[in-house]
Amino acid sequence: MSNKLLPCPFCGSDRITVMPIRDGAQASCKDCCAKSEPMVHGPNGVNSTWEGAHASWNRRKVKVKPLKWKLAKISDEWDRFSVETIFGSYEALEFSDGTCGFSSPDLCEETSVEHGGFKTIEDAKAAAQADYEQRILSAIEGATNE
Ligand SMILES: [Zn+2]
Repeated sequence: MSNKLLPCPFCGSDRITVMPIRDGAQASCKDCCAKSEPMVHGPNGVNSTWEGAHASWNRRKVKVKPLKWKLAKISDEWDRFSVETIFGSYEALEFSDGTCGFSSPDLCEETSVEHGGFKTIEDAKAAAQADYEQRILSAIEGATNE
């Protein structure tokens, strides 16, 4: 296991330290106080607690929650899914030519932007999710989405 602690996913600082806590160890950022999960000494001894705190810190990253699509039937043949987000609603649907697409909120026009050409509704939903994540992460400094 590498002993190198990755930079803070929240503020970008590389001033990360592992500190003893009651019955264990915990990594934290000296600049913004972000912390790893606390690791408690187990049967494998104190060294494994320190390694665990390292590993826990290095797993930390910002993750955008998946959109929770709701099915809204248009007809027996076509399904339409929609989800409300903090900046408007996304819709994923099948078009009459059999292709699929999604619409994303357009904040400037207070309307929506259509994106087509997807083979399946799941592809369209995945593209909508990527669009949503890109918007959320663009507002967070030091965010990575790997
Ligand atoms: Zn930080």
